[in-house]
Amino acid sequence: MKIGVIGGGQLGRMLALAGTPLGMSFAFLDPAPDACAQALGEHIRADYDDKEHLRRLADEVDLVTFEFESVPAETVAFLSQFVPVYPSAEALRIARDRWFEKSMFKELGISTPEFADIQSQADLDAAVAAIGLPAVLKTRTLGYDGKGQKLLRKPADVAGAFAELGSVPCILEGFVPFTGEVSLIAVRGRDGETCFYPLVHNTHESGILRLSVASSNHPLQALAEDYVGRVLEKLDYVGVLAFEFFEVDGGLKANEIAPRVHNSGHWTIEGAECSQFENHLRAVAGLPLGSTAKLGESAMLNFIGEVPEVARVVAVEDCHLHHYGKAFKTGRKVGHATLRCPDRATLDRQITAVETLINHA
Ligand code: AMP
Repeated sequence: MKIGVIGGGQLGRMLALAGTPLGMSFAFLDPAPDACAQALGEHIRADYDDKEHLRRLADEVDLVTFEFESVPAETVAFLSQFVPVYPSAEALRIARDRWFEKSMFKELGISTPEFADIQSQADLDAAVAAIGLPAVLKTRTLGYDGKGQKLLRKPADVAGAFAELGSVPCILEGFVPFTGEVSLIAVRGRDGETCFYPLVHNTHESGILRLSVASSNHPLQALAEDYVGRVLEKLDYVGVLAFEFFEVDGGLKANEIAPRVHNSGHWTIEGAECSQFENHLRAVAGLPLGSTAKLGESAMLNFIGEVPEVARVVAVEDCHLHHYGKAFKTGRKVGHATLRCPDRATLDRQITAVETLINHA
């Protein structure tokens, strides 16, 4: 079976690493000449709205999936005429726009921060009066890793904030005084079979994910599964979906969803029976899903900007290096390490060992 992937970054690369043993081959459509997935499959170098090359991709593959959500809606609609596309155009439409996303949470009874649609500075002034400060202004689309958002602490931060984000459609969210951030990675097959990985606790720095630790028997697992299950059913979703939550007052508030494999699920490559990448491929290919059970205690640390010396990373016991083969650049995710340890005390020690390498890289 040949899988077409829109986007050829590290997520596409890890999909191919998981799918190759299943007998799958891959074609990646990505305009970047150095797209790092090309080491694992065919690289169709073209823009995401290039109909000639999209048609070529559709003709060559059995189905198409995505490694990022900001794909133009017309691209998805165009491809869908010729080849099955998972997840659906509707799932992408909702997930790439924070207003649609939060409106869906509300409709489904999923707790989420207060929010308002912002089309002008006047809308923002009115929303701040209603929601209060602090609050977070975010562009409705194209924001990632903390980009396209601004924390408004005091009235002076509000003036001109809409223009600062580019005068594009935004939402204002009430600030959540969270005690932690967690994500739930779920997978749903074409037949509706659904599995959930254990909740993951995530630590960000400057808006970029640094550390994910898979939990054991998290008290909010059942609530998270209930919330995520509602979204999967509503969208008749096929594939892996990542759902990010704030932990607050002993409960959860929904932040956002990603209709794809997710950085906070990378630990599953070595830390779970079947990884998020393999399970995404199983789901879109109509295969039975694999077990999401955790193997031992597991964590993932991102390498941002550069990968520490390889020999030193692999010298850490229980540590698995994933080097994406990308040029090093400040703020760019260029690799990660997964730790899989027999117990939590060992895991904490090994997290410190890898953090020390990162801090001295
Ligand atoms: P996002 O791009 O929506 O995931 O936001 C990036 C990060 O900003 C989150 O991981 C949080 O740490 C923080 N953040 C986003 N929205 C809020 C909010 N409404 N209240 C508090 N912190 C937030």
